Amino acid sequence: MSEAPANMSRPIPAPMVSVETKPFWDAAAEGRFLIKRCAECGKAFWYPRNLCPFCMSTETVWEESPGEGAIYTYSVMRRSPTGPYAIGYVTLDEGPAVLTNFVDVAPDGLAIGMRVKVKFQPTEGGPPAPVFAPA
Ligand SMILES: [Zn+2]
Repeated sequence: MSEAPANMSRPIPAPMVSVETKPFWDAAAEGRFLIKRCAECGKAFWYPRNLCPFCMSTETVWEESPGEGAIYTYSVMRRSPTGPYAIGYVTLDEGPAVLTNFVDVAPDGLAIGMRVKVKFQPTEGGPPAPVFAPA
């Protein structure tokens, strides 16, 4: 049995890029993390979409985020052909919760409330995908 990689990264399939999400993926390719904010009610939200999930306004704008936040919850998948990996939710400092993969951390190194920061991981033939690592 081979030693499991400690960074918990795993192959990520190419994301589906739509007209609605293209600005996000274009920015991701430049290492920039974008979220959406509603110009009507002022709330930031995730995932990026044209319609505000809080007030249904279509007046939404892209905003660059430092991609920093805290782990809300997580789960480590220990039995995987590519080695252990972890998924969970990060609460961004702007408010929205992001479902994501955690990388650059040992399976036992995660904790609820831990500060994390976005980074981008190459995907299989698509734009890089946001993942989170300890800040
Ligand atoms: Zn709104």
